[in-house]
This record gives sequence, structure tokens and C-alpha cells, in this order.
Amino acid sequence: MKDWKDWYSENRSEEHKVVNDIEEKIHDDLVLVRLWIAQDGKAPKGAIKYQSKVWKNKNSKGTNPAKNLVIITASGQPPLILTNKNSPLVNKSGKVAKGKKNDGNAPTSRYLSKPYQWRCRDCGDQFDSNVAEIHCTRQPRQLSKVSDDSKKWFDKFLNGIEWEFVPHHTISKGQIGVIDNPIADGIAEEAGRELEKILNRVEMKPPEVFELYNYKTRYLRVSDLKDYRKFKQVISKIAEWRKLKIRPIRSAPVGVIEIGHAFDEFLSSNFKNISSDDWSSGERIWFECKELGVTVSGTPDLSFQGIPVETKTLKLFPFEVEDENQQSIFRYKWKTNYCKQVALYLQGCEMDWMLLLLISRESGKFTLVPVNDEAMEKMRADWNEWANNKEHSTKLEEYRKLISEEEVAS
Ligand SMILES: [Zn+2]
Repeated sequence: MKDWKDWYSENRSEEHKVVNDIEEKIHDDLVLVRLWIAQDGKAPKGAIKYQSKVWKNKNSKGTNPAKNLVIITASGQPPLILTNKNSPLVNKSGKVAKGKKNDGNAPTSRYLSKPYQWRCRDCGDQFDSNVAEIHCTRQPRQLSKVSDDSKKWFDKFLNGIEWEFVPHHTISKGQIGVIDNPIADGIAEEAGRELEKILNRVEMKPPEVFELYNYKTRYLRVSDLKDYRKFKQVISKIAEWRKLKIRPIRSAPVGVIEIGHAFDEFLSSNFKNISSDDWSSGERIWFECKELGVTVSGTPDLSFQGIPVETKTLKLFPFEVEDENQQSIFRYKWKTNYCKQVALYLQGCEMDWMLLLLISRESGKFTLVPVNDEAMEKMRADWNEWANNKEHSTKLEEYRKLISEEEVAS
């Protein structure tokens, strides 16, 4: 389920809801199979087609899916039709894509074999182990090899790539936190021109591995403070997760989800090799969230002349595609993610603004935007609301206690 939601966020809309008429309870690990409808275009080989009614009743669109369907839907976007892998809709046709080949969109996952790969969060050493072995006093991050399909994608991408800096004004116009300041704009422009030269000069290597995302975190993360759904999920379980031994993740994503992760690795590993007086790696920032009584940390990817630079990748910029939905998706990402991330980092350093580096994963176009912490006010109001929720406040207390015990112990 989670993979499909990620797929929908990435390809159609981050603002969506899931409705269903299946017997099972919907949860993130539920395995669902995609059904192709006419709106999806040509179905790939082996796909299961669905030609019946999607909604029970046209008037109640969005609330009453037809029997055995799970539907992800958003306004202005085609719905994504899914069904349980044991559903009669699947058995009838007898054709379930086995999760090997797909059209590059359909998310399936692949199993990882032992020994698993890890990387130390402190010293960056990579090592193999069947279990999560502590390195430099910290839990390591688990890695996955990049799949052959994604390797091919990178080879093709790197073969024709020309990195191009685009000034930010048309892209960033009207977005939260964008500052209108000639000095900041001058710095952004200089940073962009310089980065364009660097990127086109260095020989970029495709990534061999990428970091797996483990939702069972031991610490609240920056991303948990940006999104209520995430926060709610994490805070309700985090104390429990902290008591468990860290189990290795046993499967890795494929398709667009994998490329997204691998692209982050691609940028960070190649940025490490950049030698420039102005550009360097980012430094870890700590931020105390008084409203929730917690401290979170994060590391902006880069810095330019000492100014932190946070990198976000997107498939293409809205101006590169002839699809009006892309502009609203971009606006949504900005509002719920980009401006919040910047605002959080700015609380942890002595700066009024920093740079947001947006990179297209397909065209190689990128831009740099000076952004301030305008998003903070709304976030603080949200946090106060979360902290006042009785269920969360109990859990927060429990988490804070575990953290303070850990600090005493070390
Ligand atoms: Zn280490």
C-alpha cells in the first residue's frame, strides 16, 4: 500500500485520499495489485485490465468504490485502481505480474540477500553484516545495491546530460518564504553559475548503492515535524521501536521510488568530490522544538560560501511539461515540504535565509532559490495543536524520558 501511495504522490498528486471496498483492513504493508483502466493508457504486457465500473454510484464519486477495489484518488487526477492480490479480480484473469518486469512505473519490490550492506552515519565506512552492527557508537544506515534497471536508467541519463542553471524567479514566484532581495539573488545566481560549471566539468559516476528508508526510527526526524500524518504515526510507535532490536530491512524498492533514492545518493556522492572554494558539504544542524519539547537534527546537503543549501529533486519543473496539474503539484510540494524544511534548518543556524537547490531528475535543469523561515509560524501553531492532543502528549513524554535516560547513560 505504502509504495502505491508514494507512487501516487510522485506521479499524480501528493494531496490524495484512499478509499476502498475490500474486506481486509488497509495498512501500509498490505500487498496490492494494480488494475489498469482506460484512463491509464496502454497497459503493459501482463497487466491486469479492469473494465467494469470503478465507482458504485457516479453521484457519490470518491466515497463509494466498487467491490474489491482500493482507489487512490485526488481532484484533477486520474484515480489509481488497486486490488488485494488474493482478490477474485486477480484470480479471474489469472495474470498477476510477478513483480519482476514492470513498465518503470509500477512499484514492486525486490528481496535483499544476506549479508546486508550498511554505512556508518559518522565515519561513512561501508560494511557487510547480517545484523545492524553499531559503528562509531551509532546505528548504521542500511544500503541496497542499485538494481540493473535503475543502473540502465542512470547510464542513459548521464549519457545525454547537460546541467543547466535556470534563474529561479519564474519557478519560485508566489511561493512561501521566497525572499525578494537583490543581494540574496546575486548570491543565488553566482552559486548557480558556478555549480553549472562544476557539474558539467566533473565526471559523474552512477550510484552503486542507495540508503534504504526505515520508517522505524529511533529519533524524531525533521520530516516528522513537517507532516502531521507522519508525526502521528511515528510518535505513537517510537517508544516501542526503541525497545526493539533493529531488524534489517529485507526488501528494496524498484522503479521510480528507487530512482528517487538512488538520485539522492548520486548527488551526495558526486558532490563530495567537488573541489571548490565556495561549495562544500553541509554541516549537521540541531533544532530545539520547544512546542513539542524535543530536539531534532538534520544535515543540509551542501553549503555555498557558508550558506546552507538544501537539495530537493523533482522529476521535471512545471514549466518543462504541458500539464497544468504539475504547477499545483509543485505548489503543494513547496508548501508541505520545501519551505518547511528550510524554515526548520534556519532555526538551528544563525541565518535569516538559505538556499534551496531544486534539480530535475530528467532534464538536468536546476535552480537556486533564497528562502527564509516564513513557514515557521504555521508550523509552530501546528505543533502547539499536536502537543495539546492528549494521546500525543503522553507519547511525547514517554519519548522524552527515553531520550534523557539515553543521555545520562552515555
Ligand atoms: Zn563509523
